[in-house]
Amino acid sequence: MLKKQRYEAFITHFSTNMPIAETELQYENPFQLLVAVVLSAQCTDKRVNIVTQELFKHFPTAAHLAATHFDELFPYIRSISYPNNKTKHLIGLGKMLIEDFGGEVPSTVEELVKLPGVGRKTANVITSVVWNQPNMAVDTHVFRVSRRLGLVPLTAKTPLEVEKQLIKHIPKQHIHIAHHWLILHGRYVCLARKPKCEECTLTHFCKYFEKNQLKPSKEGEN
Ligand code: SF4
Repeated sequence: MLKKQRYEAFITHFSTNMPIAETELQYENPFQLLVAVVLSAQCTDKRVNIVTQELFKHFPTAAHLAATHFDELFPYIRSISYPNNKTKHLIGLGKMLIEDFGGEVPSTVEELVKLPGVGRKTANVITSVVWNQPNMAVDTHVFRVSRRLGLVPLTAKTPLEVEKQLIKHIPKQHIHIAHHWLILHGRYVCLARKPKCEECTLTHFCKYFEKNQLKPSKEGEN
């Protein structure tokens, strides 16, 4: 199967079966999403959602984060991975939002990556989820699933290489949602250690499946 056909099958499948796909992080505004994504590095969305319930009550704006100090903020996020660093990042992030961006979350990747604790992946999540910009955040699920499916060659060894390939081939209007399609498929079906190929509905265009000559599931044959 040609790469172009794989992309077409990918878009057709998910547009039809998952026309709505969203982040599992709970948030009510761009500031809350930014905080939640920073906290979610190396941590589950489920744990982040538990923690942010109380955190957002006590620190609802960038100004609240900017005005706090380590010992006051730390207890709210101590159950998250890397709480020391994340506490420092959130305070620095609050200060920079107030001092450089008028307390608002900036809308470009270039500005977002200047914030403490915000890398390219986080900036891509914010710009695509909040503003539907055609940016692709490549996390561990997107990286793994896109390579297994054959959307991206196995020679793509870094998240940036994978991001460039996906951006190049996915039609612009689908890029922001394709990020969620790949994450959700990786989280629930195409698991890292043992992909659930027997119940996967993408077998008809998956390169990994094809190469390993696995027996297609009934849905996969459709
Ligand atoms: S067929 Fe298997 S390897 Fe391919 S996407 Fe589905 S679960 Fe992943």
